[in-house]
Amino acid sequence: MNVLIVHAHPEPQSFTAALRDQAIATLQAQGHEVQVSDLYAMNWNPVATAADFTARENPDYLVYALEQRLGVKSQSIAADIQQELDKLLWADLLILNFPIFWFSAPAMLKGWIDRVLVSGVCYGGKRFYDQGGLAGKKALVTVTLGGREHMFGERAIHGPLEDMLRPILRGTLAYVGFDVLPPFVAWHVPYISAEARGEFLCSYQQRLEGLADDQPLVFPKLEQFDEALYPL
Ligand SMILES: Cc1cc2nc3c(=O)[nH]c(=O)nc-3n(C[C@H](O)[C@H](O)[C@H](O)COP(=O)(O)OP(=O)(O)OC[C@H]3O[C@@H](n4cnc5c(N)ncnc54)[C@H](O)[C@@H]3O)c2cc1C
Repeated sequence: MNVLIVHAHPEPQSFTAALRDQAIATLQAQGHEVQVSDLYAMNWNPVATAADFTARENPDYLVYALEQRLGVKSQSIAADIQQELDKLLWADLLILNFPIFWFSAPAMLKGWIDRVLVSGVCYGGKRFYDQGGLAGKKALVTVTLGGREHMFGERAIHGPLEDMLRPILRGTLAYVGFDVLPPFVAWHVPYISAEARGEFLCSYQQRLEGLADDQPLVFPKLEQFDEALYPL
């Protein structure tokens, strides 16, 4: 299996980076090919702008998604986007590895999503959810956070973790067609002992070793909706 790990953390020695390294070691030991996009180390540009296109269908008014479609067809999309898109299309499994910032992903990773999940390849027209351009691939979200496990859940103070991650799990990964695996979560990371953090690394290794048996989360299928996308 080909695996792309997209890692977004500003500190190279972070615990989140230790999870990335655990994934590389575990997956390579199983014979998988692994590529890593370390967004801060790459000085990734996360801002979607007109500069992302060397030629434009409409030079007078930027409709970013439409220019993405033309850009991938005519190879006029920025080279840094094309390189990431090539890695994404190569991968059978995408791992997004990041610390939770404000109930979400760091801007660096949000900007990778904005710029790399291009219209016309990853989605477009009625190609989304199970019909998305990346159908057949798997995705895993691996997060660290400051909160404790009991703070998340139906009656918990922050609500269910899947609700917090909905824009990523559903609005992004499921939308473009990935089979989205249940996230791996390391809770309360800065406040626990080094041993407890070591236990998270061990459970992550075990989780990755058994990944083939993981059941994806359930999301809509287009066949459950009519032409206008009303539920049948
Ligand atoms: C802008 C911002 C917004 C945030 N929003 C939220 C939020 O909405 N919800 C929430 O819950 N949290 C939030 N946080 C907290 C954040 O999610 C956590 O601080 C972060 O996920 C902790 O992971 P880390 O990798 O940064 O830990 P680090 O601080 O890098 O590491 C913690 C400790 O682990 C040690 N360590 C490193 N490698 C290893 C190893 N191999 N084995 C054992 N120990 C190791 C480090 O030395 C350090 O002492 C926010 C933080 C910021 C900055």
